[in-house]
Parts: sequence; C-alpha cells; structure tokens
Amino acid sequence: MPELFKVGNLTCGPNSKARGFLKVANAEIEMPITLVSGSPGKTVVITGGTHGGEYPGIETAIRLAQEIGPQDVKGNLAIVHPVNTTSFLARTQYYVPADGKNLNRMFPGRALGTLSERIAYTISTELFSQADFYMDLHGGDIHEALIPFVLYPAFAAPDVARVSREAASKVGVRFVVGSYSSNGSIGSAAVAGVPGMLVEIGQCGLWSEEEVSAYARGVRSVLRHLGMLGGMCEDLGPVEYVERMNVLVAEHEGCWYPRVKPGDSIESGQEFGQIRDYFGKVLGKVCAPSSGIVLYVARSLAILPGDPIGAIG
Ligand SMILES: [Zn+2]
Repeated sequence: MPELFKVGNLTCGPNSKARGFLKVANAEIEMPITLVSGSPGKTVVITGGTHGGEYPGIETAIRLAQEIGPQDVKGNLAIVHPVNTTSFLARTQYYVPADGKNLNRMFPGRALGTLSERIAYTISTELFSQADFYMDLHGGDIHEALIPFVLYPAFAAPDVARVSREAASKVGVRFVVGSYSSNGSIGSAAVAGVPGMLVEIGQCGLWSEEEVSAYARGVRSVLRHLGMLGGMCEDLGPVEYVERMNVLVAEHEGCWYPRVKPGDSIESGQEFGQIRDYFGKVLGKVCAPSSGIVLYVARSLAILPGDPIGAIG
C-alpha cells in the first residue's frame, strides 16, 4: 500500500490533492495548507508569509497551491499560504501581533511558548520532520527595499549546504548568499538535516504580476532541479555567490536617512546613512563595515534601536 501524505489532520494521496488548514499547536489559529501527492518521490515543503507583509512570496505560494496538480508532481508537495495569518491580516512588519516576536528568529519553536514559538514548533514538527527540501518565500517587508537574493544555510553539514546552494542557483536570482543563522526557518530545517533556501523577491509592501510570475517561475525551476516537476531545466541567468551577509543595526531612536540604494556597490567605511532626531541633529552616522553589494535598505523614516537598517553582501 502506498503511504498517505499526512500533515496535521489533513491526509492526501497518492495521485490527489488536499486543501485545508494546519492548526497551530495549542492555539486557536490555523494556517491554510495545500498538499499535492503524485507518483512516489521526495517531499518538498514551501512556505509563504513567514513575515505577513511580504506579499510576492505569499501570492506566489497561493498561486502555486492552485496551479500544481497531482499529475504534475513526483513525490509530495506541501504549501503553506501563508504561515503567519495574524500578521498578514494586521499588516504588520516582521512581528506576530500577539507576542511582538519575529517568527523567523523563533525556530524550531516550543509547543507551549508564545504564539510565534507555537507556529514555529508546528512547522518544525509537522513539516520539517518529513521534508527532503524546504523553500521559504520572503521578500522585502513593508518598509524594506531590496534587490532579489536567495539565502542558503552555509553553516550546515557539508552535504546539506551543497544541495541547498546548488538548488538556490536555479531560482533565477543573481545573488546567492550564505546564511549563518540557525534560529530562522531555513537554518533550523538545516540543523534538522533538511536542505533549503529563503528567497527574497519584491519589496516595500507591494506586489506585482511581474514579480509573482518571476517568483513562480523560479520556484518551478527549483522543483524541476529537484526532480519533482517534469520538463527541461531553464537557464534563468548568471549567479554570483556571496559568502555572507553583513546586517547593519540601528543604535538610536529617530529618523533614518539612507545614503545608498539596493544594488549599489559600497566600500568599507563609506557612509550607509544617518539617524537624526526630530530637529535634524545627527545622532549617528552608519558606515559600511565591509565592501560589497547593498542587498537591502530600510525605507521607513522611523527607526528604533536594534532595527535592521540594511545589509551588505
Ligand atoms: Zn521576511
């Protein structure tokens, strides 16, 4: 008997598709999820909306969940669209409204932690536990401008890092960047032995048909590379590997005036931006700690100590 693909209370397959909701452990919150099961093969997990204001990734996950059918798939595909429904509906940046925590720093989560920890726990136990590969679809948050890039878990075991990096080069995004964070979605999956990637396409709380088409094309390209979808692998353009990303963090509360844009080349020591008070007095200048490409820049005028204000790859 072929095995059924089960996630939470939802059961699928083989050669079928199931739609429903994955209940967050010990919470009255559910995540919309679609399971697609074709002929025997690998299990791939896709999540959109770990951050609720990153719309191109969310809309791509929603669309792929509608479009991909069991006849297209070798293996099992689970798509969560979106993960962070309360943040999505509240239109908040980064944070889950119930606990003010950044879900992408809460993995692998705790069954009896705060809501963010319970969501992370549910994704870890229900999905990472049976995944062979994981894709987390992000984008610039409501206040973040960025050029598209893909993160992969560079710190992971050599095989996990290699499979992740190779797959990340198939998205059609130029910059493939090593990540060293283990408490985010892909980092935590990698610690559990699951290769994966976090894709950043789109910015500033917007989404367009062009971005979603490019995003969906990139995800399908990876699924083809993994042998889950049929068809020829397309060449989606050249790739530059970036060893790591240097995130810059605000040290003052006030108004933020960036001096650079995503995609700019920057030299070590060059001014990245300034934080000023409400009277225009400069509270602090932020200088680049390393040379490289500006991957993202905060575009909110408001800034708080500890907020990321940009990253250099
Ligand atoms: Zn994000």
